[in-house]
Amino acid sequence: MLDLLWLLLPIAAATGWWSGRRSLRASGKDRPCPSLPGEYVKGLNYLLNEQPDKALELFVRVVEVDSETVETYLLLGSLFRRRGEVERAIRIHQNLIARPHLEGQHRATALLELGKDYMRAGLLDRAEGLYKELLSTRYLKGEACFELQKIYEQEKDWLEAIRSAEAYQSSSGDSQQSVIAHYWCEASEQQRQAGRSRLAIDYAKRALVRDPGCVRASILLGDIALAARDSAQAVKYYARVAEQDPDFLPVVLPKLRAAYAGLGDQSGLSRLLSRFRGRKHDSETILQMIRDLLDHGDEPAARKALIEEIGKQVAPVRLLREYVALEQTRFEGDPAETLRLIERVLGEHLQQWFAYRCNHCGFRAKNLFWQCPGCHRWGTIRPYDSPDDNLSGGRHG
Ligand SMILES: [Zn+2]
Repeated sequence: MLDLLWLLLPIAAATGWWSGRRSLRASGKDRPCPSLPGEYVKGLNYLLNEQPDKALELFVRVVEVDSETVETYLLLGSLFRRRGEVERAIRIHQNLIARPHLEGQHRATALLELGKDYMRAGLLDRAEGLYKELLSTRYLKGEACFELQKIYEQEKDWLEAIRSAEAYQSSSGDSQQSVIAHYWCEASEQQRQAGRSRLAIDYAKRALVRDPGCVRASILLGDIALAARDSAQAVKYYARVAEQDPDFLPVVLPKLRAAYAGLGDQSGLSRLLSRFRGRKHDSETILQMIRDLLDHGDEPAARKALIEEIGKQVAPVRLLREYVALEQTRFEGDPAETLRLIERVLGEHLQQWFAYRCNHCGFRAKNLFWQCPGCHRWGTIRPYDSPDDNLSGGRHG
């Protein structure tokens, strides 16, 4: 059974035919009118006999495409693509582009749509060619840059992605600065993996120029310094993250611990953490504070801090597990066995802990992604510490 979408075809064909007749009459020309009715009936028969592709072929071939019908065809093509019927969408858009008298704006729209069809079909090279062709016209340049940006993102060609994002930004006025900073970070990671640390540092610094609040660039610079055993520099960059966005403190605390250890500065992390004591109540930061106290042999202070913090949280599962683990050291025999059991149950429960969440689409993840796998936005996934709904429901990866 054909759905309503296919009715757009005969409607577009009939509209084209009538408008063709009207313009011929108005011009007083002695040419015969387009002979649509015969073909029209044939096309309708194809539709009624459930041969939609033959109907599509015929209607698209015979119909006059003008400003009145082109919108319908563009709509039809885009609806086909959205339903995943990419080949049909491509046929419609190719046919439109092949019309020699198509008005510039409509041709540009058909080019843009065909490019989206190709992207949907995974034919990135062809889509790229069309968008570049669009850039040589005076239409839809911003849209073409935006689509090119998406192609280069998929191809991981970050320098080209930056160029397209800049062109899109200047044509649309829509700021891409934080996205461009992420592209520089991606380029930096590529260079780092290729063993070119100097270029990796240069690119990460460019990210900070674009977006001084880019925590990812600071983390990258810290990681590069730490790998080069430059602990002082690593501490500088990691500590900067706490200034840029304290919510990312849980991400850099283990790294800071390693960097301070490299410096031989046993109290460095405590000094830094003391600045946040009383201000940060996410469980990761608190756990790091507790472990720092334990590292310094101050078990009573660790226990006291844990009890205080557990009382402040709605569902402090992570802190409870830490507390139970700490308490085990004070008992022997059955009580210790019971505490071990509780710790194991809490641990199993925490297997489902999502430490990150996208603040745009709500996607939750156990690891930090800089581009959300759900909505593909950059920098929207953040550390997340709301245990009341952390362990159940929602999209996640
Ligand atoms: Zn998202």
